[in-house]
Amino acid sequence: MADLDNEKDSEFKTKSVGRLTTEYCKICGNLCDPYNKPALSCNECSKKIHVECLKRGTVPTSFVGDVFFDLACSDCSPLGEETVVRNRMPWLNVIILTLYNLREKSSGISKRGYFHWKSDISTFVDRNWDCLFKKTVYDIALEN
Ligand SMILES: [Zn+2]
Ligand SMILES: [Zn+2]
Repeated sequence: MADLDNEKDSEFKTKSVGRLTTEYCKICGNLCDPYNKPALSCNECSKKIHVECLKRGTVPTSFVGDVFFDLACSDCSPLGEETVVRNRMPWLNVIILTLYNLREKSSGISKRGYFHWKSDISTFVDRNWDCLFKKTVYDIALEN
């Protein structure tokens, strides 16, 4: 009985280590860190690419911590080009992103980390509606 448990244990460990290797960037080979080195993962092969290692060097929006995109890496994309498209944003993601950006960019209006629903949060979402929800954000960002 004890042997069987040990076997299960080691199998589990190998699996976890295997999973961790996908946390390295496909382009530069360095570790991905959600805070300092955020990365997108390819929808097809699940390999990760740092935001700064993308061909265009950044995501299509200027939000802080915005990694809510669908990525097809150059190996998986039918066009042979990296494509980055805004994924369908659930409201939870929108709110997380909004609060994070309000906190990072406008610390002045924060009341000890609290924001006013109407004047801060709704205004932010309103102003950035296209960048938050439009599928073709990639092209829009290029035009500006
Ligand atoms: Zn990288
Ligand atoms: Zn891929």
